[in-house]
Amino acid sequence: MSVAVTTTAVPVSSGEIRSLGGESAGAAGESAQLDSTPSDLRATVAQAFRRCRDLGMRLSRQRRMVLELLWSDRRHLSARDIFERLNAQGRNIGHTSVYQNLEALQSAGVIECLDRASGRLYGYRSDPHSHLTCLQSGEIEDLDVVLPEELVQQIEDLTGYSIESYTLQLYGRRRP
Ligand SMILES: [Zn+2]
Repeated sequence: MSVAVTTTAVPVSSGEIRSLGGESAGAAGESAQLDSTPSDLRATVAQAFRRCRDLGMRLSRQRRMVLELLWSDRRHLSARDIFERLNAQGRNIGHTSVYQNLEALQSAGVIECLDRASGRLYGYRSDPHSHLTCLQSGEIEDLDVVLPEELVQQIEDLTGYSIESYTLQLYGRRRP
């Protein structure tokens, strides 16, 4: 398994980086905290609707469909996946509309967008979080990882930066 540290494009205060249970990194002692269970602490689709309204974005029927699918599926999907799933559910929406809504939502920071060699993938979470990619299936899982404070401090000392947020990209295979 190889690990790389990258920073996210969305700056947030370190107080917003959380694990399930909301404990601080200091409480974890030496080990990083992580969790892959969807948490009630995370945004709901109703909060995403409110966020769009606050940003002055129109909540068209199509835009709501796309958001509802991302929040109910909770995986990282391509525009094509989303188009096919909505149409399989009998929702009448065109491919261009799906694509345009995804681009508008991701550029407003309402949803996440991952650039992969195979194309763009969209996810429901817009807060900083880490990803575990399966090297066999290509499936990407969301993870909340809180690094030990000492490690963050070391990175700050090494770079001269004050770290405000981070995400980890982890790659691995399911253990037999
Ligand atoms: Zn994600």
